Amino acid sequence: MPKLKIIKYPNSLLQELSKEVIEIDTEVRSFIDDLVETMRGSICVGIAAPQVGRLQRIIAVDVTPKNPGHGELVLINPKITAESGKRKGREGCLSIPGFVANIKRSKKVTVSALDRDGNSVEIETRGFEAVALQHEIDHLDGILFLDRITDMKRDLLKRKIEEI
Ligand SMILES: [Zn+2]
Repeated sequence: MPKLKIIKYPNSLLQELSKEVIEIDTEVRSFIDDLVETMRGSICVGIAAPQVGRLQRIIAVDVTPKNPGHGELVLINPKITAESGKRKGREGCLSIPGFVANIKRSKKVTVSALDRDGNSVEIETRGFEAVALQHEIDHLDGILFLDRITDMKRDLLKRKIEEI
């Protein structure tokens, strides 16, 4: 299966709003396979469709490498329906290689979505997996982790990234 090309910041596609998936047909399923393959081939715990240039609401998350005991999640049209608690943790992003920052997120989230067969699923999770889900769902709304840090730090980081 082909590995897809990761789009890097400051490509403007990363700041667009992704569209809902209307029909999960064979083309969408085959894209999902490629997306998961791309995640597996990278050092990351999640990926969102816009990161490979496709503005559709599809994410894949698997935190097993960093936090054993979870499995692969492929979520279509994911929505956070409940969240609670706060935690701060280091995050990085495939689209912004070489940069990490401490980001404040909800500790616990409930996400409703469709799985790759079109079944409704509800995921309730906490900790690292909850953070990964929030990070990937942000991508679908054109939000990067850089947008969630304080203004001053963000400006510094963005300037450094643009210099590279
Ligand atoms: Zn990311």
